[in-house]
Amino acid sequence: MIFTRDDKTQKVLARIPGSQGDDVYECTLEICSNPLCICNVITIQFTPYPPSPEPALDKSITVDIRKRRVEIGPLTAADTSKKDKDFLWAVSAHIQDDDYQFLHQEYYLYKHAVTNRADISSLYAEFPIDDIEQNGDMIGYTEILPYGDYFALILDEQQYILVDLYCVRLECACVDTVMACILVNEQKQTGEEVAAYRIDYKKRRWETLDAQDNIPGVVGDLETLKQTIEGAYPKFYRRLRERHQQLKTLYMNCLKEHELYPPQHASRRVSGKVGRNDPFPWGSGKKFKQCCMTKAR
Ligand SMILES: [Zn+2]
Ligand SMILES: [Zn+2]
Repeated sequence: MIFTRDDKTQKVLARIPGSQGDDVYECTLEICSNPLCICNVITIQFTPYPPSPEPALDKSITVDIRKRRVEIGPLTAADTSKKDKDFLWAVSAHIQDDDYQFLHQEYYLYKHAVTNRADISSLYAEFPIDDIEQNGDMIGYTEILPYGDYFALILDEQQYILVDLYCVRLECACVDTVMACILVNEQKQTGEEVAAYRIDYKKRRWETLDAQDNIPGVVGDLETLKQTIEGAYPKFYRRLRERHQQLKTLYMNCLKEHELYPPQHASRRVSGKVGRNDPFPWGSGKKFKQCCMTKAR
């Protein structure tokens, strides 16, 4: 592993094996500050550490943390010196899985902080309008805010992610959250949906929509699960309400942008399919996605 965070200084350091032992660099990580952007790219500037009196070499690389690929930084290939190419080679040769994990963690923490600081109502996010209006699709909070908070639980030494979905149609007054319970496989960075619940966050009422027959322990028992989550997240229902409200506000922004709001324009349809974000590695709980209104029709 070449990257570490120095406990004392909190600096990110890189140790690149060279011909005479390790070359140590201080790294500056640059990550795009758009909370909704899922570019998965980090630009890293390297300066010798401890600082040397000689002018710092401008060594910079770009890492795609999803594709796990290292690219040369702002320098174009044509004017890259041999030294820089050697440096890039050295980084490429020594960067390992745990380095990518480290960078992924840095990326996530940064984006998470940016999301939490952002004025959510001023963000612009694309929604699948036709799917929502015609099929009553419910939308996952992390589908729209990929680096926002999410609910997680460890039960019987298993890690679960709770994906919360909402109906965002402005004319619908439902107070429901569909909560998909995803059993996380940390190593494979995937998850399997083992159960789904409908929660009326106003009346604090839970209902099982679906559950695998053999799900273990707490997740299989609705009352225990409910109490466990309420214990882990003291403001649980209030947060569901706020998250629902945030998504509705963002959805209204999206409708305005497409000139579908105010609703007298609602007969106009958006042409073409809007692609859906799904950067969330654990899946988005799309199995139970229809809103209450569609069900009642
Ligand atoms: Zn970006
Ligand atoms: Zn609804």
